[in-house]
Amino acid sequence: MAAKFYRHTCPRNCYSTCGLISLVEGGKIKELAGDPAHGYSRGHLCRFGYCYLDIFNHPDRVLYPLRQEPRGSGNWLRIGWDEVLTLIAGKMLELKERYGSFLPVFFYSYSGNIGLLHQAWNWLARSLGEVTIASGSLC
Ligand code: SF4
Repeated sequence: MAAKFYRHTCPRNCYSTCGLISLVEGGKIKELAGDPAHGYSRGHLCRFGYCYLDIFNHPDRVLYPLRQEPRGSGNWLRIGWDEVLTLIAGKMLELKERYGSFLPVFFYSYSGNIGLLHQAWNWLARSLGEVTIASGSLC
């Protein structure tokens, strides 16, 4: 498979939303650099931006959901994606049952990037009905 360049936006929570360019080969990112065409960062990244490849390839990187059993024990067990999603949804429904609304589900969206993926939580929260939403700048 031929190597290909892709453009990205750093997904961390900074207002600069620095531009990234990756070189992907065989389904793996081989190189990552700042995007010189980005209007603000102009090819520069901070140390977090430069360490993505180390994070992606780190042997301790968490690649699947883990559940600590019992809580606080440090005994982490691998669980499936369906299980974890059912667990989280169940907890949210449990809160609704207990308090009569989704208001105990806290939602905050006023820091960092406002990219499409970041909006996913926004859409989910709005689809639930009334949730607690903080407003204003984190700064
Ligand atoms: S490269 Fe650094 S400064 Fe830029 S958005 Fe990512 S974390 Fe923030």
